[in-house]
Amino acid sequence: MSVRVRFAPSPTGFVHIGSLRTALYNYVFAKKSNGKYILRIEDTDQNRFVEGAIEGMLEAMHWAKVEHDEGMIIDDNGTLVQTGEYGPYVQSERLDIYQEHIKTLLDSGDAYHCFCSKERIDEVREKQREAGLLPKYDGHCKRLTKEEVESKKAAGESYVIRLKLPEKTDIVFNDVVRGNVAVNTEDMDDQVLIKSDGFPTYHFAVVVDDHLMGITHVIRGEEWLISTPKHVYMYEIFGWQAPQYVHLPNILNTERKKLSKRQGDVAVEDFMKKGYLPEGLVNYIALVGWSPEDNQEIMSMEELIEKFSLDRVSKSGGVFDVNKLNWVNAHYIKESSVERITNLAIPHLVGAGYLTEAEAEEKYQWLMDMVAVLKGSLSYVGEIAEKVGIFFKTEIVPEDEEAAELLKEEHVASLLEAFIEKIEAAEVIDAEFGSKVFKEIQKETGIKGPKLFKPIRVAVTGAAHGPDLPMVMKVLGKENLLSRIQYVKDNLL
Ligand code: GLU
Repeated sequence: MSVRVRFAPSPTGFVHIGSLRTALYNYVFAKKSNGKYILRIEDTDQNRFVEGAIEGMLEAMHWAKVEHDEGMIIDDNGTLVQTGEYGPYVQSERLDIYQEHIKTLLDSGDAYHCFCSKERIDEVREKQREAGLLPKYDGHCKRLTKEEVESKKAAGESYVIRLKLPEKTDIVFNDVVRGNVAVNTEDMDDQVLIKSDGFPTYHFAVVVDDHLMGITHVIRGEEWLISTPKHVYMYEIFGWQAPQYVHLPNILNTERKKLSKRQGDVAVEDFMKKGYLPEGLVNYIALVGWSPEDNQEIMSMEELIEKFSLDRVSKSGGVFDVNKLNWVNAHYIKESSVERITNLAIPHLVGAGYLTEAEAEEKYQWLMDMVAVLKGSLSYVGEIAEKVGIFFKTEIVPEDEEAAELLKEEHVASLLEAFIEKIEAAEVIDAEFGSKVFKEIQKETGIKGPKLFKPIRVAVTGAAHGPDLPMVMKVLGKENLLSRIQYVKDNLL
């Protein structure tokens, strides 16, 4: 049987980093197995539907290059369309399919109508809780006769349809990560399968869809492990073969608590906005809860596909460590062309008010030179906005005490004088100028080492530390350099 896997998000808002990991594992597993990867939209909870969430999710997946073979896509005109032979791939378009299947379960006696009010159910649960029991539906409507059901329906009473679980029965299944799992029906609830609005619940739709879409492996978050016995039981009563289950460990923060929005960035969109590279985020997130046999850390998508195996998914939660992400991402920024990073940097620079889009176009070559100097120090592209200040200053102000002190030394005036002469004499300030000029000044004035280049760095940038000085000088150019040094001489010494 050829492998078919799916990622089944609910369009309820932003894309959690954990969803990207689930999608990624499904994708790489499908690719590795020459199988198909399906994206299904689970929108049965209409109250939680968020406008634009599907589009946002598809864009994020496209950005990450975790592309599905079947499901909903955005076509060239920006319209949502579906592709594949197992559709519709949106649950709200499959309501007749669920109706047909619930009929099967009602006919076989494996499901029943329940007319209990919310108040009654709350009361029952409260009493169970007080008695120290597991709160669950007490089966009140299970005993209704066909006639009673029909007359209640005819009277317009609102109802749901529930799964009829057998009494005191072990439901057993195997999970690739967790091994064998057994749960007794005593500890399970008669799950609602069809809600009063006629929509299926997730639990019913997921089983019907996974079966009809030929899903062979269900790879999803650990939070669904607890629901799996219900699903497995439904496969059994339908007489279908259940898929292989793979429940992925939670993603934890560095305090080993579940990663949540309150602790900062958890949405793929947040990382996109900050200028993380897709290959950096994908590479890092792959390692949160899985590692290859050889423990290699930097991996392209091709390598991930080659090395991925479900049996190396860890049981314990994977820790999301932003420092590690930054390290991985910095690697990919270093490897990227200056042009790519420049193009990604421009919106950040425009956004920070350093220049307009038109100016960015005009000064593109200059921006490339600047990015070439800073690229090696970036964890994510947006960080560039915090680092370019030295290139956009017109007046030099020592940034801190250390920088101010460096300008106070006695030899600085003559040093800057010598430096000005050299700049004036130079035709162009290229990368060689920087290395040459220090040697020459040293020879002529006897000033050397930190006493030589540190005050010059402060006079050029205002800071005592920073990127490669000859490169910075090259980016600044002759006029700029001269006016900066002159300004320092006239105003700060
Ligand atoms: N719609 C579910 C979710 O939002 C999918 C769970 C599953 O993969 O079965 O996570």
